[in-house]
Amino acid sequence: MRILLLAALFALYFTLPAAAQQRNCGTEAYIQTLKQSDAGFEQMHEQARQAVQQALKQQNNAQYLRQAASTITIPVVFHVLYYNSTQNISDEQLLSQLSILNADFRRKNADAVNTPSYFQPFAADTEIEFCLATIDPNGDPTTGITRTPTTRSSFSYSTENVKYTNRGGKDAWNSSQYLNIWVCRIDDNIIGYATPPGGPPATDGVVLDYTTIGAPPFNRFSTNYNLGRTATHEVGHWLGLNHIWGNGSTCNDSDGIADTPNQREENVGCPSGMSLSCNDSPYGDMYQNFMDYTDDACMNLFTQGQAAYMRAAISTSRATILNSLACSGTLRSDFSTTVAGDTLVVAGYAVKFSDASAGVRPTSYRWEFEGGNPATSTEKNPTVTYTRPGIYDVKLTISNGSLTSTEVKTDYVHVTVNDLVVYPNPSSDFITIEQPARILVRQVEMVNHIGQTVITAEVRDRVLRVDVRDVPAGIYFLRITSTNGTIIKKVSVVR
Ligand SMILES: [Zn+2]
Repeated sequence: MRILLLAALFALYFTLPAAAQQRNCGTEAYIQTLKQSDAGFEQMHEQARQAVQQALKQQNNAQYLRQAASTITIPVVFHVLYYNSTQNISDEQLLSQLSILNADFRRKNADAVNTPSYFQPFAADTEIEFCLATIDPNGDPTTGITRTPTTRSSFSYSTENVKYTNRGGKDAWNSSQYLNIWVCRIDDNIIGYATPPGGPPATDGVVLDYTTIGAPPFNRFSTNYNLGRTATHEVGHWLGLNHIWGNGSTCNDSDGIADTPNQREENVGCPSGMSLSCNDSPYGDMYQNFMDYTDDACMNLFTQGQAAYMRAAISTSRATILNSLACSGTLRSDFSTTVAGDTLVVAGYAVKFSDASAGVRPTSYRWEFEGGNPATSTEKNPTVTYTRPGIYDVKLTISNGSLTSTEVKTDYVHVTVNDLVVYPNPSSDFITIEQPARILVRQVEMVNHIGQTVITAEVRDRVLRVDVRDVPAGIYFLRITSTNGTIIKKVSVVR
């Protein structure tokens, strides 16, 4: 009896942790949650996938796409959420994680030699790198690491509290400029999950369990996932990759990548030799792939096809990150008008300009407004009145110490007349019809005194010239159809 009990306890002791220790990525479940909670997600997700396929097709050769582009660097911010000091992992551990991402994506990982010789030709240097952000979204210096104490002992992928400051988490930094990586304790034995391309920007990024970050000696947790490969796997998802077996447990589904063998289901633990499924002989499953479910110590490659896919995802739905200055230490001038459409206005209108500079926060602004009043400004967001019709340039120079950047937008502001004008009247050759901003003239008809249409003109420009050289002298009516209805103007043609 006692022996039996001991045996039972022994079995329990060794099976429970083992079961909990199988890799458990939350991305698929998270995507299902997004489909239910976000009405627009499925369409955006599908559009992102099609954009990648289109980009790959346009290059006509995935290999070309990968080789043609230069190295891509993605700025990263780590948001550490900690309930206790154990969860508040060290800077060194986070830096160790960054090095692992860079090694794995550039195929500089020491265990690249463990890729079997028959898979070596498929292995890829993705030419994607990661840098720790040096500038925060306000343009101020940052370590690229935020630390937030929380009263939540753990976080669930289904509520996403970790991504909201007012729910015990931390708001994302602008996901068009940063890869947000939240580090916390995740519920349900999940060790990581990622937002795929096309996901909601406010919650876009990767969430990792704090025990998976970096490698020893910085990572002090003794699990099978303490070499930083969970981040590699999840960033793969963030760049659109699927699990290598295609998520189902049949041979009919696929990860959509041509050079990964068709694989029935996930491989777990640390297999050796060949693992055959789905007629994928002679070499079998590529269980060494970062997108399988094997232990950190047993995965070591992305393929050429996966690399091309990730680069295409960056060049399409994640393209804004290519222009990010978050790691650069520089600044870039840019601006817009506060009210959309205010680059086309009637004379006398006051246009509000908005600074939209990026990178290091400017300490001074110098605006130049051709044709505007005032003609210059040192405000951040000035208001300018334009009194004369015309087309004008706007220039903004920003500075911070020795850093300076200038943006000129040529012919940026179109100032039109106040009212529809028709001139000259009388006319002998051309009648000019000039329309003000906010009114769109669609058609102009010239009608004679007995109601016959003598000229019909479709309007494509703001200023229309009607040729009346072949029209007999007399009184005519211009019937002008616009977004504001129909206006009649009387004109006379003289010879
Ligand atoms: Zn996964």
